[in-house]
Amino acid sequence: MTADLLAPPWRAPATAPLQIATVPGKGRAFVARTDLAAGEIVQRCRAYGAIVDSQSLRRVCAHCFALPASPDAACRPLPVACRADCGVAFYCSAACEAGAWPRHRLIDCALARRFFPDAATRPAVPLLPDGRLPPWQADHPGPRNDRDWDAYTVDMIRLVMDLLVCQLKENSGAMVDGGQGRSGHGNGGHENGALDPPEQPRFCDVWNLCANTDNFSAARRHQFAEIAAALAPLVVAMYADAPWSIERAALVQLRAPEAVAHAATRSEVTADDRAAAWAAGIQQLILREECNSFGLYTFHLKGPTAPRQGYAVAVYPHAVFYNHLCRPNVGHLPIPQGPTAETATAAGPPDMVFYTTMPLAAGEEACIAYMEPMSDHRQRRALLKDVFLFECRCSVCEQSDCAAQADTADVTAPRPDFRRDLCPVTACQGRLVPCGLIQLHSKAAAVSPSRLVCEACGTRLSL
Ligand SMILES: [Zn+2]
Ligand SMILES: [Zn+2]
Ligand SMILES: [Zn+2]
Ligand SMILES: [Zn+2]
Repeated sequence: MTADLLAPPWRAPATAPLQIATVPGKGRAFVARTDLAAGEIVQRCRAYGAIVDSQSLRRVCAHCFALPASPDAACRPLPVACRADCGVAFYCSAACEAGAWPRHRLIDCALARRFFPDAATRPAVPLLPDGRLPPWQADHPGPRNDRDWDAYTVDMIRLVMDLLVCQLKENSGAMVDGGQGRSGHGNGGHENGALDPPEQPRFCDVWNLCANTDNFSAARRHQFAEIAAALAPLVVAMYADAPWSIERAALVQLRAPEAVAHAATRSEVTADDRAAAWAAGIQQLILREECNSFGLYTFHLKGPTAPRQGYAVAVYPHAVFYNHLCRPNVGHLPIPQGPTAETATAAGPPDMVFYTTMPLAAGEEACIAYMEPMSDHRQRRALLKDVFLFECRCSVCEQSDCAAQADTADVTAPRPDFRRDLCPVTACQGRLVPCGLIQLHSKAAAVSPSRLVCEACGTRLSL
């Protein structure tokens, strides 16, 4: 159990289309192993920890992450609530509620009772008098709490706690939910195609991610420390039934104070010491989550003519080596894990699939966009700085800078290449993605991979 605690960084399988290399000035990055054509699937990653976000809780199943079929369906609240009526977990079926309960009980439910006691009676998204939900909005306030945590912070906390439950499960095998459910069954992924079920990530992969502590303001780091201190007693309680060896392993992995981590038995350390050790570790975990999590987006909540709609947040530890490029050469899309042999629904959060949007030469860096295409480079860079905490110096921005300095071009005018991957249907805001991605779990006959389909409205195009 403890043999892999301080594991070396994850490496891409030797046959994968991308490999991890060190790019001067950027650190670790994905680069093409060989020449790649446009529209190739280059990676499929499994989540380690994922939550449905606060504003989508009553519309997206917290266990299988099934989405409503349409915006109209998104106004019908999910039929099954958590058996403890905590107000922060809803499911598409009784089977999903039962499947989620062993781990939900440990975290989201405990969190809700401690920090969001009113969530059931005063939900963030209340029902209308006719029993339906209002149309989905991006700015619901999130579960009410007495800490002034906004919806973003609440979801950050829920995801960090989910990472810890995943670790508890990883360390204890069947302890949390009988070995079924959320972990999936990775097959190692080494000799497989990019669309085969991916390798199961491990907690050490999360822990090895960068934390970029210095990028955060002092105020934000202070908030992280406060949150970690508030969560620590909950985590100590969560580990109360686990063997001490498991908690100690977790603390060692979190590089918590040695005196605690190396104690032979729980009774050798006080509850306060354990809470302090956990607080230190949770703070580090928050930093990693903040630097590396992915938002999951869909068009099922408001339809194809509204901007992409976020519904979940997840950590994909094997997908963190994509740097940002304002005109990316790799796109990404969440796809369902697919039903397992035992269950009709997916066993957990979607996988993230990455595909090339233009040809890459061997050795060329593979980059995604951290944000929607935006042609105004000043606005774009301000947003990247604000949300992603870095100054973009990508080739697109440098060109815009030169043009702006030379005053030879209107840099705010829409640039056609920013629309290149977008759906041509009027008002549709979807992107064109390889057909094979959308069809992955449908029974439709496979079509030529050289065709593209709009992720939002389903319009098909030839490449
Ligand atoms: Zn479900
Ligand atoms: Zn609950
Ligand atoms: Zn840029
Ligand atoms: Zn479209």
